[in-house]
Amino acid sequence: MLWDSVKGQSGPVVFLQGAIAKDRVVSGYLFSGPEGVGKSLTASVFAAALNCRDKPGEGCGECPDCRAIVRGGHPDVHRLSPSSKSRSILAGEIRDMRRTAHLSARGDNWKVFLIEEADRMNTAAQNIFLKTLEEPPPKTVLILITSQPGFLLPTIHSRCQRVAFSGWPYTLMEPFLQERLGIPAGESFVLHSISGGCPGRAIRSYREGIFKTRREVIGPLAEGRSFTAREAVDLAERWLDISARPGKKLAAELKKEAAERDRDLDSQVRKEVEARDNALVSAADQAGLDLIFQLIFSWIRDLFLCSTIGSQAPLINRDLESRVADSARRFTTSQLRRMPGRVEESRVLAVRAASRPARRIILENMLIELGFWRPGNRT
Ligand SMILES: [Zn+2]
Repeated sequence: MLWDSVKGQSGPVVFLQGAIAKDRVVSGYLFSGPEGVGKSLTASVFAAALNCRDKPGEGCGECPDCRAIVRGGHPDVHRLSPSSKSRSILAGEIRDMRRTAHLSARGDNWKVFLIEEADRMNTAAQNIFLKTLEEPPPKTVLILITSQPGFLLPTIHSRCQRVAFSGWPYTLMEPFLQERLGIPAGESFVLHSISGGCPGRAIRSYREGIFKTRREVIGPLAEGRSFTAREAVDLAERWLDISARPGKKLAAELKKEAAERDRDLDSQVRKEVEARDNALVSAADQAGLDLIFQLIFSWIRDLFLCSTIGSQAPLINRDLESRVADSARRFTTSQLRRMPGRVEESRVLAVRAASRPARRIILENMLIELGFWRPGNRT
């Protein structure tokens, strides 16, 4: 059965299977969730399950309909994604889709439209899409696929059935990462934690050097000694430099894209694309800061678990087990118990802080509160 090819998403799978079985398939679905967890694959399998003649509702995977849908190129299953130039889905493309949707399907088939990165529809495109949702042709399913549902109009949200995808459990992630990246189990805990169980993000983090970043961020905390004032200030600065990398990298990529973008792009469309680019850069900046705190939090959490549970503790930084144990000995249990709250408070403050100096002070203060820097103590 084709549904078996969808891993780690039993909620959406059961929900969609139930919709077919109970004859409650609706015309609009919004598949949301992190990148790379199987939203597109699920949409294809759903389209196959709707159209399979050998195993209706299941998708045999063998019949001409199933094969064509999975491979791409089935006459009744259409895929739309952002064009390479504008990185947007424009009104004309949705208008074409609408026209196709109104043409009758071959035989008794369901017509299925999969819109990848649906958040890249500009406002005009979203409004035309809404019209299609309001007057859907019979036996037509429109599936919006996105990891950024916030960019879609509230009216689209309210007219679509939301299907939320989530990260994979560790039991699925570990063999996947072993097969795809050949990394040992100890390191896959870190990737699972950092990526929130999202395999696509885990692979990207790995390729972008997450282990080097982790060394830079928590390495000094793992040295097992207190910092001097100079070291504490330098570390806070370094954390901020690292946190700014994703935003800077994305801004440079988008700038390059903008330069290559079609000059004939309608000015309204260009404005929307620019606004979206700016929002994405701020989100990347935010994500960079979150990553720093995630790494610090993982270390603090591991120290606490190690001191309370001992060698059986389910550490995130399992590959650094002996250093965790050495570091944990430097603190009392009550000190360790207070640390996660301190890190979370600092994270909230740092996210809200408007400027880099303000963020630096928050990070320095956190180092004092966590006991890594004792001002006045010269050792
Ligand atoms: Zn089939």
